[in-house]
Amino acid sequence: MSQHDEFPELRTKAIESLLIEKGLITEEAIDKIVDTYEHDIGPMRGARVVARAWTDPEFKARLLDDATAAMAELEVGGFVAEAVVAVENTEQVHNMVACTLCSCYPWGVLGLPPSWYKDPAYRSRVVREPRAVLAEFGTELPADVEVRVWDSSSEVRYMVIPRRPPGTEEMTEDELAPLVTRDSMIGTAVLA
Ligand code: FE
Repeated sequence: MSQHDEFPELRTKAIESLLIEKGLITEEAIDKIVDTYEHDIGPMRGARVVARAWTDPEFKARLLDDATAAMAELEVGGFVAEAVVAVENTEQVHNMVACTLCSCYPWGVLGLPPSWYKDPAYRSRVVREPRAVLAEFGTELPADVEVRVWDSSSEVRYMVIPRRPPGTEEMTEDELAPLVTRDSMIGTAVLA
């Protein structure tokens, strides 16, 4: 089954109806999954991962080497987080993530994708004019910073390790985690 269809929501609805009709899953079970991702699993899982990476260089090295394995140390993973690749923002490079074909996203790490992530305009423009898209998110980068756009798919889902905000050198991992926003891990925002 391809996840890259022109009408993924329609297809999802059709599959859901079929599963219910065949008695393979109940509507309540589907509602429970959706509810879990809406209320229990949000971007704070990813934020914990980022805060650990900022404060533990060895963890960061493992995260960049094999994000799925490193995140499992923090019990972060699960649904569509089986093959996550973490990319690190630096002074020279800013990373952004999209899924140009549909809306692949590491739900188990970042929760539900924002609606604009699924918008065809974001998905196409982020490749052609990433800086214009960043500007619309209020994100201005120095001209000499290289912007890299990563295309998530059903096989590989990317997350960004944003740069640690200035002035946070004394903060602990637990204090840092709440500073990490969802959009900074998609790469449409930077942390002030
Ligand atoms: Fe996709």
